[in-house]
Amino acid sequence: MRKHFAIRKVISEREVELPETHFVEIMKIAEEEKGVISLGPGEPDFVTPKHIRDYAKKMLDKGYTHYTAIGGMSEVKEVIAKKLKRKNRIDASPEEIIITVGGKEAILLSLMVLVDPGESVIVPNPGYMMYIPMIESLNGVPLSVALSQNENFEYNIDKIKEILHTQKTRALILNSPSNPTGTVFNRKKLEEIADFAVENKLVVISDEAYEDFVYDGAKHVSIGSLNGMEEYVISIFTCSKSYAMPGFRIGYATGHPELIKAMTRLKLGTTLSTPTISQLAAVAALNGSNKPVKKMVSEYNRRRKLVMKRLNGISAFKTLEPRGAFYVFPNIEQFGMSSVKFSEFLLKKAKVLVVPGNEFGKYGEGFVRISYATAYEKIEEAMDRIEKLFREAF
Ligand code: PLP
Repeated sequence: MRKHFAIRKVISEREVELPETHFVEIMKIAEEEKGVISLGPGEPDFVTPKHIRDYAKKMLDKGYTHYTAIGGMSEVKEVIAKKLKRKNRIDASPEEIIITVGGKEAILLSLMVLVDPGESVIVPNPGYMMYIPMIESLNGVPLSVALSQNENFEYNIDKIKEILHTQKTRALILNSPSNPTGTVFNRKKLEEIADFAVENKLVVISDEAYEDFVYDGAKHVSIGSLNGMEEYVISIFTCSKSYAMPGFRIGYATGHPELIKAMTRLKLGTTLSTPTISQLAAVAALNGSNKPVKKMVSEYNRRRKLVMKRLNGISAFKTLEPRGAFYVFPNIEQFGMSSVKFSEFLLKKAKVLVVPGNEFGKYGEGFVRISYATAYEKIEEAMDRIEKLFREAF
């Protein structure tokens, strides 16, 4: 291990200014302790369904090992267009689609084409932890909108109006179903957001990474499918969660052809084309049977119910029942500890790892994120430990 890094001073402020995270320390403790159960994962615990893996292997053997067109293979875009129509009710031609390295690259490229230095973007807070650093790395200004548990962690348009820099705000990030809160925005709320975006000429960056993870009759609606939104939305999807394919790094976005063209031009200077084998694996995922997805979602739902039942048994957790994604986001203020202290306490005393809510932005303070992307039995054991600890400690 090298101790001294003499050229540290040449590292850009962009990196140096990245926020400090306490989660790294918590992960370090978790690695050192034996027998920790992690309720931290942000990725599916299932292996990619077999038909997708088999197809990818076959395509490798056929020699699909070269670059493709920058924005993606046209035959794959055709499959994506059909999926967008079928599932998201979005009409998109190939020029309106770009295939990216995960949903994450699509978010970054969207921000890169929309935001000049000093311009701002509305972000949900608590929200997916990468939005703010991505905006800041482009010298943009994130405008955090506090999502409150009393308001079901949904956007409150009045709160957005209060912080809007009318001249310079270019985009609004929407994430439904949401990480870390599990909130699913209903159609009425989406219509309100759509009207607001059109009135203020904002582009909605709609991150729909968890589109398949909805429970209890909740419906996922793509804001890009609403009337008159064609020019105002970049809709972003990924195979990472729905098909348990995070390692394939495959996502895609659709929007106005001018935006997609600009994103494609920028992709030339970043990752060029998305890995060919992953694009082909996406064909098997999107064209194949939906049964594996249904099976996984039904298992997530079983676990969600388990977590809810057990948390509701400890009255100091104030928990909204989430209807989407694979996270529960309870309020822990009644324990009299900060999110970080509470997470450390749980880790040391019960050997259960959760993520402090403030990792998702300052308005996540007072909460923790519990992921149920882990085996049912492990969740049961983790909940037993938590229950025992709180019976003894409080
Ligand atoms: N958006 C949200 C809300 C996420 O939680 C994640 C991953 O955790 C992503 C986007 C990025 O996923 P990927 O780049 O694997 O598609």
